[in-house]
Amino acid sequence: MPRCHLKITNATIIDGSGNAAYQADIAIETDRIIEIGALNHYQADEKIDANGWCVSPGFIDVHTHDDSALLKTPAMPFKVSQGVTTVVAGNCGISLAPFQAQGEFPAPFPLLGEQKDFVFPRVSDYRDKFETSPAATNVALLAGHSSLRVKAMNSGFERTAEESELNQMKADLKLALQQGCIGLSTGLDYPPALQSSTDEIIELAKVLNEFESAIYTSHIRDECDGVLEAVEEALVIGKKSKTAIVISHHKCAGPKNYGRSVETLAKIRLAQENGQDVALDVYPYIASSTTLLPRFIDNAEKVIVSWSKPHPEQNGRLLGEIALAWNCSQKQAAQKLYPAGAIYFQMDEEDLKRIMSYPSTMIGSDGLPGHEKPHPRLWATFPRVLKRYVREQKLLTLEQAIHKMTGLSAQTFTLKDRGLLKPGYYADMVIFDSQTIEDLADFDDPEQPTKGIHSVFVNGKPVWQHGASTEHRPGQFLRH
Ligand SMILES: [Zn+2]
Repeated sequence: MPRCHLKITNATIIDGSGNAAYQADIAIETDRIIEIGALNHYQADEKIDANGWCVSPGFIDVHTHDDSALLKTPAMPFKVSQGVTTVVAGNCGISLAPFQAQGEFPAPFPLLGEQKDFVFPRVSDYRDKFETSPAATNVALLAGHSSLRVKAMNSGFERTAEESELNQMKADLKLALQQGCIGLSTGLDYPPALQSSTDEIIELAKVLNEFESAIYTSHIRDECDGVLEAVEEALVIGKKSKTAIVISHHKCAGPKNYGRSVETLAKIRLAQENGQDVALDVYPYIASSTTLLPRFIDNAEKVIVSWSKPHPEQNGRLLGEIALAWNCSQKQAAQKLYPAGAIYFQMDEEDLKRIMSYPSTMIGSDGLPGHEKPHPRLWATFPRVLKRYVREQKLLTLEQAIHKMTGLSAQTFTLKDRGLLKPGYYADMVIFDSQTIEDLADFDDPEQPTKGIHSVFVNGKPVWQHGASTEHRPGQFLRH
């Protein structure tokens, strides 16, 4: 009689490929799925009766800023409680590694922590730290362009890079990829990268070619009035460097730009039809969140302060109200509050739906751990898609939505043997009730675990069960 350490019976299998759900049992031995089917004949050390609930691959959060959180809060409750089993960190040009902060510590680096947290000059330093005390989730790391740039330019980043500086960035990127990074990210809308030329990024992205499957992800140069040109720039970078690209947290921000996802998606579709490898990610909210910078205010209908170092008493308040109370403009208030983070209401629901339903779009939270009053996407991105856009609005089928959270994500980022429920694949899994799964976190109360999740497994070990984190920390540092 075959044996396994865990058998899940009576499961509705949503395998992550986008194919239709079916009923089966799953056998798991150590960290892998060994068989899926009618498995009455299996003996198991432990059995879970899924009772008809869904079992899917664990969700892959393709857009995170969890670099520090993985080390500081290894239980990762804000992620595992919503079914996330793998996070891609180092996004938007800022990665904790490879970087050592000296001199100026510009925005948006404070999104990842304080200057003293940046102590990983090489990716191997970060990887060693993670592997010595792993987190509950797996991690795959991108090298941040701004991290490379600030180091190579010795903090004098408000100009174009000289050839020697570009060569330094290339050498550092190459080493980062050798030590396990899966690609390069940029944040071209932020101070350290504003002066970087398209050619600089193309030259850097060419380094990715030397490594199989390395990818370029970009928080593009402009998500507001210049969004179309910024998408074009990302496409040019991908084309000229012959690299697969991901356009991060795609949006058309600012009321003037509502509806323009028709144009941006048409441009992306055309590039794909011409053979370019392009993917996108999105989070299911019409509000963004990042560092509080005066120039970001113009394009928002409403701004909420999510944290402020000098004025923590203002956390959770509207910037407009603070400005009124302080008898100054919103921009002046933003300056007084800095270093600070904010939530910007600046998107159109129809754009969001159009982007989410685009076939190459994955789900990524862009959650910001460590904020006093974080954007609810940190805790609730994945259940919100399943409740609001699958069950209520029927924008996506359940199988399509799960594919955008698992199989498509693993394929895009080349995460080997993950993202599907399939014999031989890692046992990263989530058991949930598709009829009741619900995001409880909202803007007023943003730190709430998901309703309707039974349990979450990473590499065959339970990390979330009975509504709480377990003691297991089975996360692996993923590399190509
Ligand atoms: Zn970003």
